Amino acid sequence: MKAIHFNEHGPSSVLEYADLPMPVPGASQVLIKLHAAALNRMDLFVRTGWPGLNLALPHIPGADGAGEIIAVGEGVSGWHIGDRVVANANLGCGTCDYCLAGQDNRCRNWHLLGETVNGTYTEFILLPPRQLFRLPERFDYHVAAAASLVYQTAWHSLITRGNLRPGENVLIVGASGGVNTASIQIAKLAGANVLVVGSESKKLELAESIGADILIDRSKSENWSTDAFMLTNRTGVDVVVDNVGTTFPLSIRSLRKGGRLLTVGNTAAPKFEIDNRYIFAKHITIIGSTMGTLKDFDEVMSLVVTGKLNPVMDKTFSLKEARLAHERLERNKQFGKITLSIKK
Ligand SMILES: [Zn+2]
Repeated sequence: MKAIHFNEHGPSSVLEYADLPMPVPGASQVLIKLHAAALNRMDLFVRTGWPGLNLALPHIPGADGAGEIIAVGEGVSGWHIGDRVVANANLGCGTCDYCLAGQDNRCRNWHLLGETVNGTYTEFILLPPRQLFRLPERFDYHVAAAASLVYQTAWHSLITRGNLRPGENVLIVGASGGVNTASIQIAKLAGANVLVVGSESKKLELAESIGADILIDRSKSENWSTDAFMLTNRTGVDVVVDNVGTTFPLSIRSLRKGGRLLTVGNTAAPKFEIDNRYIFAKHITIIGSTMGTLKDFDEVMSLVVTGKLNPVMDKTFSLKEARLAHERLERNKQFGKITLSIKK
């Protein structure tokens, strides 16, 4: 089978289009012929590597993928050859105390497709069926793959952990990016009023086109926490979604008393200073999470396949062109999800 893998960490040129042995399903596994994979910023981080990351090389990147089942291992019931599926990258063991409590994303033996184990930039992949969501006939594999990681992550953060309520004001820091665009749509679906702070007018316009109510251009307004305060009748917002990291000080200042700051990542940098006085004096709650539970995944993918949530699609490359796809994401040229077309 064909796959994209790398033998050493580095720039996009380390990605190789390779011939690998065809996998054979073991007990409790299904073999999926992937039609589409979607990129996440995590793919770039894994390719580049970081101190302490100890991957078995060569490594196949990619967390998101969708396709059809072409073989079923022993002991698998309820899944058949020809079933159309999308993969859930959050790999819980299914047996530890967290998994049994329905908190798969806190699993004691947690893995992430494309990060800790080989991923979806490949023609064929083996997965246990608990990782699959069944797609309706004719539902676009690219849209399904594009939704999988970012929508479950945003849903878990905003709804399951963040307890977002109708009428609340949510400020999303960053107008583009998969999790941010998913967050805009999920917040609107939950009945919230959505403010978005961004630096490019084109990306802000696109944020508005998918439901953002109020746009704050930080190229014109450096201290956007003041805008957030003024735009909410001098109260501050109920919730901030901040996956940038270094913007935490402004995010905390944007919150009303008793507000929640939600975070699932740090696209800028992981380390920065926070003035603790703003946290205790304003009764702020900081809620961190990563990925989602199986229940989150089922709930949010049901909304995607029924058209209530619509992933923003950027550009599609062939599997062979994965390097170009990585370069587009690296240069931040995209709005929405970049996908790879795998079907021959
Ligand atoms: Zn577990």
